Amino acid sequence: MVYSLATVVDLVNTGAGERDGLAEVADLAEFVGRREVSGVRTLTRRDLAEVRALREAFHAVFTAPDQTTAVRVLNTLLGRTRITPSLTEHDGHPLHVHYFAPDASVAEHLAADCGVALAHVLVENERERLRTCAAPDCSHVFVDESRNRSRVYCDSRTCGNRMHVAAYRARARRRDAS
Ligand SMILES: [Zn+2]
Ligand SMILES: [Zn+2]
Repeated sequence: MVYSLATVVDLVNTGAGERDGLAEVADLAEFVGRREVSGVRTLTRRDLAEVRALREAFHAVFTAPDQTTAVRVLNTLLGRTRITPSLTEHDGHPLHVHYFAPDASVAEHLAADCGVALAHVLVENERERLRTCAAPDCSHVFVDESRNRSRVYCDSRTCGNRMHVAAYRARARRRDAS
């Protein structure tokens, strides 16, 4: 796994759709494949329950009302996770750092690597980049990587466009009415 922040976003957003994206062990297997989570053994219902609990904790970091709360949630998570950094190259990815222990469960793997990625965001005082979509019927989270930190929708091609169209129609209606 290389890009851990994208994995956190993907994980949290499995809980934001119409259907729970982690309802079954098969969903977890699909997620693990999609995110290229390496070194995963046969997945069980226990793994599913642990990853679902982890999803809640990560969501709480995104929606924390302030830095102190975000730090507390993340520290609780990291405090019960074994972390052993090692440099690695695998599956065609360039050299990167793994943080999970060699025999980690999938939940512990995600807690270590995604937890460290989120920790760096907080340390760099960039918590405001951890956002929830501004569209009223959408609760997806995202990391705002725009230079001026102006992004408000989870995905400019869907929610962003949808909201622009809605605003345009509202303006058009006001024009027609006047
Ligand atoms: Zn990796
Ligand atoms: Zn959205």
